[in-house]
Amino acid sequence: MQHGEKPGYPRFQGKNRYDSFTYPQLGFKIEGKFLKLSKIGNVRMKLHRQIKGKIKTCTIRRKNGKYYACFSCEVEAKPASTDKRVGVYLGVKHLAVTSDEEYFDHPKYLRKSERKLKWLQRMVSRRKMGSNRWRKAALMLAKCHEYIANQRKDAAHKISRYLVDNYDWIVFEDLNIRGMVKNHQLAKSIADAGWRMLVQFTAYKAEWAGKQVIAVDPRNTSQVCSECGRIVKKTLKERTHRCSCGYVADRDVNAARNILHKAIGYVPELRYGQLELNLF
Ligand SMILES: [Zn+2]
Repeated sequence: MQHGEKPGYPRFQGKNRYDSFTYPQLGFKIEGKFLKLSKIGNVRMKLHRQIKGKIKTCTIRRKNGKYYACFSCEVEAKPASTDKRVGVYLGVKHLAVTSDEEYFDHPKYLRKSERKLKWLQRMVSRRKMGSNRWRKAALMLAKCHEYIANQRKDAAHKISRYLVDNYDWIVFEDLNIRGMVKNHQLAKSIADAGWRMLVQFTAYKAEWAGKQVIAVDPRNTSQVCSECGRIVKKTLKERTHRCSCGYVADRDVNAARNILHKAIGYVPELRYGQLELNLF
């Protein structure tokens, strides 16, 4: 104690002064203007700031007779601008192939799940609707669908993350023009759902990161030579693009390059000058 100072009383640090406890992710939920707390109930809250990112924990603090909920969130870092552009071909052999010759496969077990799906569908249709045996099969079918959906979601998240992190412009074929809907083959329809999800995930990640996703008319993207512009007719089975100009490439890489080129054609005059164009 310093000289001349009056001895004070120890400050009472009672439980009323300051109090806090933390809820793990499962203990709370935000619903509209209410914060639902397990074991406490619904509490009306006033948001001081918009919540961004994924909420991890919620800490309730009591300070000066008022309660505060403090959320800790996980916010992803925004990917930096790369000045790079990419065309993406969506296929049945590979889920996605880029103009930079990168290949992304369909989920590993998709083929296997497809076979199981077919088998379960037959089983459900053979059984008497509403019967116990039918119900059992229908449940298994629903589970199989869910499993496939999860595989697809995983793949779409990984690839879209990669694309948005690495490119400023991502160009796809316009799937609505492509007309795959007419095709009733199961493999195609499953692939189609995967493509749509990939485009959708890429679009929202890109929007958040301030990057561009562009859809182009798919016409001739597989047939035109991306090096010289000639038409090189090939059937679906021919996997290699071989042009008389000397350019040889994987069929899907050639298509992805054409997809990118089509988007560059869309560039308005002003932006044209700002971009470095090295098409050929
Ligand atoms: Zn050529």
